Amino acid sequence: MTAEALKGVFQGNEAAFATGGAAWYDGFIHDVGRVAIEMVKSGYASGGSPCNYVRADRYLIEDGTITGVVATDTESQSELTIRASLIIEATGTARPNLRASMTADLRAADQGWLKAVNLVLKRELSVDYAIGLKAKQPTEEESRYFFFAPYRGHTLFGTFYFSLPDREAPPAATAEEIRLMLAHAQSLCPDLELSADDVSMVHTGVIPATSSGPNRRLVMKTSPSIRSGAGSVGAENLIEVQSVKYTESLDVASRVAQQAAKYLNREYQSRNPEPLAASELTSALTPEAVAERAVHDEMAVHLTDLILRRTSLGELYVPQEREFRPYLDAMAAAASWDEAQIEWESERLMRHYQAMGWSASATRNR
Ligand SMILES: Cc1cc2nc3c(=O)[nH]c(=O)nc-3n(C[C@H](O)[C@H](O)[C@H](O)COP(=O)(O)OP(=O)(O)OC[C@H]3O[C@@H](n4cnc5c(N)ncnc54)[C@H](O)[C@@H]3O)c2cc1C
Repeated sequence: MTAEALKGVFQGNEAAFATGGAAWYDGFIHDVGRVAIEMVKSGYASGGSPCNYVRADRYLIEDGTITGVVATDTESQSELTIRASLIIEATGTARPNLRASMTADLRAADQGWLKAVNLVLKRELSVDYAIGLKAKQPTEEESRYFFFAPYRGHTLFGTFYFSLPDREAPPAATAEEIRLMLAHAQSLCPDLELSADDVSMVHTGVIPATSSGPNRRLVMKTSPSIRSGAGSVGAENLIEVQSVKYTESLDVASRVAQQAAKYLNREYQSRNPEPLAASELTSALTPEAVAERAVHDEMAVHLTDLILRRTSLGELYVPQEREFRPYLDAMAAAASWDEAQIEWESERLMRHYQAMGWSASATRNR
């Protein structure tokens, strides 16, 4: 791609495009939440039994062997015992809690974690292309790419990695971290004149980290790990999976399936994955149709499920009550909620944003 063409798609930093660039077309996910839910639905269609709001608390160990998990249905607070001939654990940050229930000789060393953060900027800085600029995060030693990616009329900027003081708390970004990221975006693209008012939302999550260098500093893990218990007495039927990128998920899944087939003594057949069903865009459906789909086909239990995970209605900014109310009413009808529940669901949604450091006044500036 020529420097001139790049300048045409991004109004940020003329100097950065002095030499030209290359355009990649793969690895773009339009709606991460819908991809996840369609994967679960495809697993169900293939004979799986998905459970929602069920938390695995500890391994079930019988006669020194892991035979399943003890879990909690977090809606009813009832305990469940789930036995399985093979357990594939992919819970990320919950792994240390599960490992704590193993006997010491089954436990492997635990790893570190970092908080990953993307800013959602209100301005659409480019339409068709994400722009990656190479630089050093102030707290890091090596340069890497920072992306300005067009996203539903907004721009995603990131990703930054920060230390995570409490693995179990919601990984909210602090005001100082957001300030640091904005300053960094501004230094990469001085022409943008960004300020805190340009940020409509912050996306955060916890990612696996590994220590590196003489100071044993935590850095992002760059390759997935699939740890099979084969060879460890009592944990032969456990496979622990740690993914590091969505874009690698097909490869990781096929490697896990091969190990599972080997353990279960079944033949592994490599197949091209079937395309996921293309779900109807939320914008093309009425709130009633969205709520029906979420409640009856997609195990949505709370308003937060619908606004944050079955749709991306709450992903770019904190929705105002007038915006989420039609979905709340539709979900109340689909799930037969009474007035008290309706009010509680609305409060629960706002509590989610507050826990991440956002209030209802932080809305889009349009
Ligand atoms: C800000 C940010 C930006 C990112 N950008 C990109 C990108 O551009 N490209 C890319 O490829 N990747 C990106 N990633 C990484 C990507 O999100 C992860 O690689 C991916 O989510 C890993 O998927 P996973 O299923 O292994 O883990 P997770 O997504 O962490 O899923 C773990 C699941 O386990 C569940 N769980 C946890 N504990 C329990 C328990 N006790 N019992 C039952 N279930 C439990 C959780 O609810 C969760 O659903 C980004 C991550 C972040 C945070």
